[in-house]
Amino acid sequence: MKTEHHTVLIVGGGPAGLALAVVLGGWHPYYRGSRMFSERYAQLAAYLGPHQGSLLGLDFAALVNAGVAPADLFRLLHHPRQKFEELAQVAMEFRQGEPLDYLLLSQEPVGGLWNKAPRNLLTLSPGQWMEFAFYPLAQYAQEQGLDLDVNELICKTDLIEYYHRVPARFGQEEHLRTGEKVTRIEPHERGFLLTSTALASGDTRQYTCKYLIYAAGQRCQLRRLGVEGEDLPFVTNQYDSPLDCPRHRVMVVGGGRSADWAATELHDAGRQVCYVMRQSPEQHWQLIGDSRHGLPYYTRIAEILEGKSPRLEALYRTRVKRIGGDGRVWLSAGGEERVVQVDHVVKEIGGIADYSLFTGFPAELQLEEKYDNYRFQVHQVRTHPHNYESVDIPNLYAGGYLAAGIGLVVIAMHGTTYAIAGDLLHKEGRL
Ligand SMILES: Cc1cc2nc3c(=O)[nH]c(=O)nc-3n(C[C@H](O)[C@H](O)[C@H](O)COP(=O)(O)OP(=O)(O)OC[C@H]3O[C@@H](n4cnc5c(N)ncnc54)[C@H](O)[C@@H]3O)c2cc1C
Repeated sequence: MKTEHHTVLIVGGGPAGLALAVVLGGWHPYYRGSRMFSERYAQLAAYLGPHQGSLLGLDFAALVNAGVAPADLFRLLHHPRQKFEELAQVAMEFRQGEPLDYLLLSQEPVGGLWNKAPRNLLTLSPGQWMEFAFYPLAQYAQEQGLDLDVNELICKTDLIEYYHRVPARFGQEEHLRTGEKVTRIEPHERGFLLTSTALASGDTRQYTCKYLIYAAGQRCQLRRLGVEGEDLPFVTNQYDSPLDCPRHRVMVVGGGRSADWAATELHDAGRQVCYVMRQSPEQHWQLIGDSRHGLPYYTRIAEILEGKSPRLEALYRTRVKRIGGDGRVWLSAGGEERVVQVDHVVKEIGGIADYSLFTGFPAELQLEEKYDNYRFQVHQVRTHPHNYESVDIPNLYAGGYLAAGIGLVVIAMHGTTYAIAGDLLHKEGRL
């Protein structure tokens, strides 16, 4: 089998991997300042003002020692305030330079998990918080003639179109190979050896690279209930819209944001919903309480539950035990068994980051569990804070939320971009 070599391979074409592709493709940030940035962050403005070259050349280790994490610095440059007012507020600009030899491999189209998010889902944050600094949503809307309020929550369909536009807009299409699943990552004399499967043909391919960026996202492996009947045809893994469930009685299994979305939308589409959760009502109501004043679908689920709608039954501290081929579902709630007859089961029980692909390395990847009140949950790779390189496997970088210390804040999903790109350019003698 022929092995293709690249200086850098990126695994994962979600917001984390895609941003890295464009920056490695030669689009580098330069400080230009802005009134808003100088007013709010005078010290940083004074530090960056004299910096002539690309911001990728900053001494990130020194900045970390001074208490400034790279992801935070670029967040402030990109969003000196939370609200978007004008393009000129972004305190950096992007100029096209020499690209680095890279290839991005992803099993889905670019945009990552947003490709399969429910059709009508709204983001948790304003549209402009989901954008890349090199392509503000306001600029995209202007170029495409779209009427988008970038300070409002953005709908999945609008967001995914934005991400899909990025490769062509920045001339990176030739460096992206989608529809390809990486199945193994091993050490190699040139750095790393990756084996992948082309999903359309089933062909096996191999690649080597000197540097590897693992940006496969926090739910590349969907969780399973581990019960009989889980793979029956009326049980769906990922909810898109009420059209997935044309018949009347739907069981939603979950309890996080995706399940809340599905239960609410199905109820409002006239279905009879049985909502099964392992969590307690107190835990669920904490999430609802935290979100009901900012997110419209939480306002709605609170109304439905408080109004005791007869079409939504919420079963707390309940587990699915078995799913029968005739649509009966056996549940266990506090030691008691109950059987519910349904037409569809929607599983929205999340996923996990998959590190099982790494094999044969002298050291195991050390992982840290990250968890917060907003239901953000992922095992992150222990990395150096100034470049997001693994502390265990040199030249392996963790992209986006997979890097330790990255929390659920604005641009966190691609906050690792600049420090990783800067480190690679530095190692390659390009800075
Ligand atoms: C329902 C939902 C709503 C969310 N809403 C928000 C929000 O409003 N705001 C926010 O900031 N964050 C939100 N998040 C967090 C979310 O994780 C980010 O928005 C973002 O998509 C993460 O980007 P990523 O590139 O790290 O991962 P992903 O978007 O998951 O992309 C990773 C890509 O890598 C691919 N991949 C995985 N393994 C392999 C492999 N072995 N070979 C090839 N390809 C592979 C995956 O298929 C995927 O396409 C939400 C998450 C979910 C699940």
